[in-house]
Amino acid sequence: MTTISTTPPDTSALGLENEHGAHNYHPLPVVAASAEGAWITTDTGERYLDCLAGYSALNFGHRHPALVAAATDQLQRITLTSRAFHHDQLGPFCAELAALAGKDMVLPMNSGAEAVETALKLARKWGHQVKGVTEGRATIVVMDGNFHGRTISIISFSGDAEAHDQYGPYTPGFRSVPYGDVDALSSAIDSDTVAVLIEPIQGEAGVVVPPAGYLHAVRETCTTSNVLMIADEIQSGLGRVGTTFACDREQVAPDVYVLGKALGGGILPLSAVVADADVLGVFTPGTHGSTFGGNPLATAIGRAVVEMLATGEYQARARAMEPILRERLDALTGRGLTGSRVVGLWAGIDLDPALGSGREFCEALMRRGVLAKDTHGSTIRLSPPLMISEEDLAWGLDRLAEALEELRGTVVAD
Ligand SMILES: *Cc1c(COP(=O)(O)O)cnc(C)c1O
Repeated sequence: MTTISTTPPDTSALGLENEHGAHNYHPLPVVAASAEGAWITTDTGERYLDCLAGYSALNFGHRHPALVAAATDQLQRITLTSRAFHHDQLGPFCAELAALAGKDMVLPMNSGAEAVETALKLARKWGHQVKGVTEGRATIVVMDGNFHGRTISIISFSGDAEAHDQYGPYTPGFRSVPYGDVDALSSAIDSDTVAVLIEPIQGEAGVVVPPAGYLHAVRETCTTSNVLMIADEIQSGLGRVGTTFACDREQVAPDVYVLGKALGGGILPLSAVVADADVLGVFTPGTHGSTFGGNPLATAIGRAVVEMLATGEYQARARAMEPILRERLDALTGRGLTGSRVVGLWAGIDLDPALGSGREFCEALMRRGVLAKDTHGSTIRLSPPLMISEEDLAWGLDRLAEALEELRGTVVAD
């Protein structure tokens, strides 16, 4: 087909992306060129405060010196072996991460979704081999409003139409129950149930915190029913909520942790499934794997991440920022916000839908130098890097209050 165009093609980075990149995202129109700590600089030199932090993949900020040093050092030595051979970073990484989680073993993967898939396979195999469930009959209970990634099996049990629809046929074997409802969970479990997969706090749903005591009750239910409790801590874990894991807030130890995002230090994808040997031991050579999983470069960075978390410094920072964030957001309830949920340095804020969509609010924030992302509808998530200074956080919250005023003004003016 020949088209006669009078406008020259847009060869800017953004233009090329629009033309040649698949449109499976709708990014804000800023083009990052460099970043440091909590700040992103664009290709035209503007600076923005990063209040998304890669959905918590950048908990330690952009290019943290200790993480860049670990990566640079490893780049000079060896980056990839595949798991066909041993390398000198994998053993220490597994031991150090297992110790952080209080478990025996680690199975490293790459993306979060892959780690969730690994945990699902693990649960089915454990169910068959250890619990004695007939092969092909295992069920896994999941929560309404969940987000666990984008693979076929995972979206098979997503209630989000955009994530789910038109990708059938779907993977069977999942039952979804209301989040926060212990009775519904108990009713969904039967003798063929092998696991409960749960986000201790639902991130994509809008930082939804379950009722106090719920995780504890989930733990009890799993123990009594001989079902694995799998905690997807990909977004909630690794310091974000003021503890190493979100399950720690209720002193709950799941059978299986699923980790990702911040584990790679914001440098590389690195995920992991962490559990005791009586569970993770069901995997034997050839039964599961990944070419890049546990590679030297990623695990060297992962070791530096674990070392930083072992000090407790980042968890303490998130705890210290929580009251500041809560106080400032509470003051905006009724003044543009209908409510907010704060846990550690993480907030889900609900914009009054009369003022506009979450997207429009993020655009107003962007015009003021703050980058954030709507989760869905009128809900916006704030998850700045945990190393953000109190001053920068206050600056960002001032801009947020201004953006709300702007949207309120527009509505009043109509
Ligand atoms: C982001 C996320 C995932 C998926 O991780 P990817 O690296 O994007 O595959 C899974 N679970 C939760 C809770 C997440 O936030």
